[in-house]
Amino acid sequence: MMNQSWVKIREGLEATVGKNNYVNWIEPLELSGLDNGVAVFRVPTNFMGNWVSRNFGDDIVQLLKSSGEAVSRLEFSVGAARAAKRAISDVPASEAKAVSRPQQAAVSKKATSVVPGAPLDARFTFDSFVVGKPNELAHAAARRVAEGGEVAFNPLFLYGGVGLGKTHLMHAIANQLRTQRPDLNVVYLSAEQFMYKFVQALRDKKMMDFKQLFRAVDILMVDDVQFIAGKGSTQEEFFHTFNALVDQNKQIIISADRAPGEIKELEDRIRSRMQSGLVVDLHPTDYELRLGILQHKVETHLVRDPSLVIADGVLEFLAHRISTNVRVLEGALTRLFAFGSLVGREITLELAQDCLADVLRSSDRKITVDEIQRKVSDHYNIRLSEMIGPRRVRNIARPRQVAMYLAKQLTTRSLPDIGRRFGGRDHTTVMHGVKRIEELRASDSQLEDDLELLRRALEA
Ligand code: ADP
Ligand code: MG
Repeated sequence: MMNQSWVKIREGLEATVGKNNYVNWIEPLELSGLDNGVAVFRVPTNFMGNWVSRNFGDDIVQLLKSSGEAVSRLEFSVGAARAAKRAISDVPASEAKAVSRPQQAAVSKKATSVVPGAPLDARFTFDSFVVGKPNELAHAAARRVAEGGEVAFNPLFLYGGVGLGKTHLMHAIANQLRTQRPDLNVVYLSAEQFMYKFVQALRDKKMMDFKQLFRAVDILMVDDVQFIAGKGSTQEEFFHTFNALVDQNKQIIISADRAPGEIKELEDRIRSRMQSGLVVDLHPTDYELRLGILQHKVETHLVRDPSLVIADGVLEFLAHRISTNVRVLEGALTRLFAFGSLVGREITLELAQDCLADVLRSSDRKITVDEIQRKVSDHYNIRLSEMIGPRRVRNIARPRQVAMYLAKQLTTRSLPDIGRRFGGRDHTTVMHGVKRIEELRASDSQLEDDLELLRRALEA
């Protein structure tokens, strides 16, 4: 069989593997021999041979069989492009062996898509992502990208603190694309894995394979890109990959723990390219979002374990008390579930407090005197400078005392320390202020309400 016939035959593969895979992986293949049930293909690189074998081997064998060839196995041999142009009959078996040891590649099952990246967490989907004010923009942008349509913004840069859902959103995009657009080659990996692959390619002298691999991607997602800051050659290679894909109008999605402008030791040209698309941040969670996430998790858990009973107020309590990091929130809930099933009774507020004492303690936020002064000034409609300044009229002195009182209650600062932060006042002044508020709150219900409101706002 001549290579020309293969050229005709292989077109049948396009429907099976999709246009992109076809162009990237199938079209470059040249059939160089067919002997004893083994079809030998010339490929430009080892990597490509392995890849094709692993992902499309079965399909190719099927196709050859159905066109009447007795083929049971494929082999790939790395050869120069010129040599590959020659007709099969021109290449003696001995030469094929000498020039390029044929790559014995076992035909294995076909992967759903060509992905050299990291595995995806199937639980990280859009369905399991709870949307609230702090993450609604990031979510909307991720949704848009997951449609796999026209590239609207490139790159999409998602940033935010630890445990706010960056990885979740990226996996959700990849998970959706894999089911709805299997023709697209979607790659997700962390910046660390990118570096690892890059270093490995350098070491094994496989840079061409590396480049080829990443240039053949339709949608590239690189998680935690702050990791490559300060890593010279990795940055450089990332930049080239990035540019090559953007030039081909391929979608790139990047995450980092901070805004591009705040990543130190990132080259300026890389930084400006990162800023050239859409930059959206995931804000720290607020109470509503935390409660929403907890409720969602409980509902999901109830499907598996309907015996779970959580008392009223427990989720609200956790949403109030646990920090903005969703991972910590989830960890707390997981422990509660385990505890609940162990003791076999309703999870009450008391039980939750007991069971999560350590988590609650460590996620107590450190409230600063400065925050207290701001919140209290806002609340009483006075200026921050007045709060700290010398005036002693009642409508300023009272809020000042409230702030001193809260500083004593909510921080670990000493009285002299607090005094210093209130315009260099003496510790006895602070003591007097704190005492005054303690006396008043017992009889003044308005003040009592104010204090409660302020405390909640500060602890939120
Ligand atoms: P990041 O990558 O930003 O550090 P992750 O995406 O790994 O954070 O999220 C940490 C955990 O919190 C994951 O288990 C994730 O499913 C969960 N999570 C974060 N945000 C949400 C959300 N909005 N809805 C549901 N789960 C969330
Ligand atoms: Mg992450």
